[in-house]
Amino acid sequence: MCNLVNKLIQNGRLSAQEYGELLANNSEELRREMAQAARAVAEEHFGNKIYTRGLIEVTNVCRNNCYYCGIRAGNSKVERFRLTKDQILACCRRGYDLDFRTFVLQGGEDPSYSADFIVDVVQDIRREFPDCAITLSMGEWGREDYERFYNAGANRYLLRHETHNAAHYGVLHPKKMTIENRLRCLNDLKEIGFQTGTGIMVGSPGQTIDHLVEDILYIEQFEPEMIGIGPFLPHHDTPFANEAKGSLEMTLLLISLFRLMFPKANIPSTTSMATIEPTGREQGILAGANVVMPNLSPKDLRAHYALYDNKVATNEEAAESRAKLQARMEQIGYELSAERGDAKR
Ligand code: SAH
Repeated sequence: MCNLVNKLIQNGRLSAQEYGELLANNSEELRREMAQAARAVAEEHFGNKIYTRGLIEVTNVCRNNCYYCGIRAGNSKVERFRLTKDQILACCRRGYDLDFRTFVLQGGEDPSYSADFIVDVVQDIRREFPDCAITLSMGEWGREDYERFYNAGANRYLLRHETHNAAHYGVLHPKKMTIENRLRCLNDLKEIGFQTGTGIMVGSPGQTIDHLVEDILYIEQFEPEMIGIGPFLPHHDTPFANEAKGSLEMTLLLISLFRLMFPKANIPSTTSMATIEPTGREQGILAGANVVMPNLSPKDLRAHYALYDNKVATNEEAAESRAKLQARMEQIGYELSAERGDAKR
């Protein structure tokens, strides 16, 4: 194993077979070795600074029916909400005062959130906060729409591919959603000039080591600026209610692996990490992640944006979330950065 880790440290790449071997031998010792190397690489580029992104959950209305997701169209128990432009801008203002310089607008694919509306919101945020990065995480659109979002002032786009394997994609999504369209979106986003993020849920139902290797190979050639990975967690009102949650250990190993493959990528330690285990977010940082995304959404609506069960921090004000994270990061020798934190290739 040691040889593979050394090879990865030196080349930043392994063969498909070697990636598979590494993942199949996910021991505590391997994770320790990988995390140590990954942290050293992250520290070279980011010091002990952790970038923060203010996450604004803008709508939980969604036309899609992804089997894993709590806000899927088919879940009739969700109380639906959508923020107005004024509410979104109010979140940004609160976030700016709390030192956030990136706003992430995330939501379902809400038919009432037209491209015109998104353009309008992005333009207003851009005008009021010229020094901030605007990240969108609003699902699949046509190329022209993505171009309009970019021209309105959005800088980054998050769209996890979820799984590169077409058969496995079909296990996670209804037929009308395809991996071809996901990848088309990702290619468009990148060509347009967005800093583009992709990624997967670790331990989603039906996922095998071979699938993960496929995901690694896809990410290797796509070269995203951001890599979002977190454990799959079941939501009780979805078809996957009784499925097992993903593995924190495999997620940590993958964070370290991607850090070694992409030294300068922005890799968040996600809310799902903190949900699967109380110290999960810290463990993600110690495995090589360099970003956290505290929630800026209005407190009274947060519980309705439940992608999975027991999501943490649904009952906190934005300031409280940020302060708590700051304290947690300090405990492990890191601090929250007030920089905008653009990814360099
Ligand atoms: N509608 C947007 C935003 C989705 S939410 C989009 O589809 O891109 C962002 C991410 O949350 C998804 O990409 C998915 O990987 C993750 N997610 C959704 N349901 C989840 C679950 N049950 N467990 C863990 N992660 C989940």
